[in-house]
Amino acid sequence: MRIDIVTALPGLVAGPLEHSILRRAAQKGLVDVRVHDLRDYTTDRHRQVDDYPFGGGAGMVLKPEPIFACIEAIQQEAEAAGAPVDEVIYLTPDGEVFDQEMANRLSLRRHLVLLAGHYKGVDQRVRDALITREVSIGDYVLSGGELPALVLVDAIVRLLPGVLGDATSALSDSFQDRLLDAPVYTRPAEFRGMTVPDVLRSGDHPRIEAWRDAERLKKTRERRPDLLSRP
Ligand code: SAM
Repeated sequence: MRIDIVTALPGLVAGPLEHSILRRAAQKGLVDVRVHDLRDYTTDRHRQVDDYPFGGGAGMVLKPEPIFACIEAIQQEAEAAGAPVDEVIYLTPDGEVFDQEMANRLSLRRHLVLLAGHYKGVDQRVRDALITREVSIGDYVLSGGELPALVLVDAIVRLLPGVLGDATSALSDSFQDRLLDAPVYTRPAEFRGMTVPDVLRSGDHPRIEAWRDAERLKKTRERRPDLLSRP
């Protein structure tokens, strides 16, 4: 899979890509994440990526020219390489809310472009002409789309075959079958008088699975009953 992140603040996304699962996935050649600095696609001396809003009001707006130049360059290069862009996603609080189902679906794509906004957002013409999907990571407003873009990258990449050491791990995580995950324990078996449930130390795997299923259902009923009534 290839993911291109388009941003005015590339430094904000670089760090997380260099650690843990994302780094290992890239090292294994399972994902190729490229970060593009919008300033590299400006043509003026000041490398300006934002401007005042028409109609006045607070906040700057990301200019259309560098965004069009950057995304069209990615699209042309990808097409020439035989791996065309499947989706151009704009991270925005007024988009469709990201969830596990969307992560699952996006993990089946081969090439995604993620556009991070800033200030008041991007010029509407970018959204009208270039963007195929608008995604929010929740009902709150962040300063920029970089963290939301990383949220998508992390949630998607960990689903790619070969990325997690144990392929079944992601399948038993919360939300995969509309259930929250069961409690987990590790050594020591007793810590400050708190013990691990006997069943987990029994070695009886059918019983352990039945206990986990019951715990998942119980937790989901208590915390997220809405998940159980989804169609
Ligand atoms: N004026 C915009 C609005 O009210 O919808 C908010 C702009 S926000 C300050 C700046 C940028 O942060 C957005 O363009 C978007 O890329 C990103 N952003 C902020 N909150 C987000 C969220 N919940 N989900 C996805 N992206 C978000």
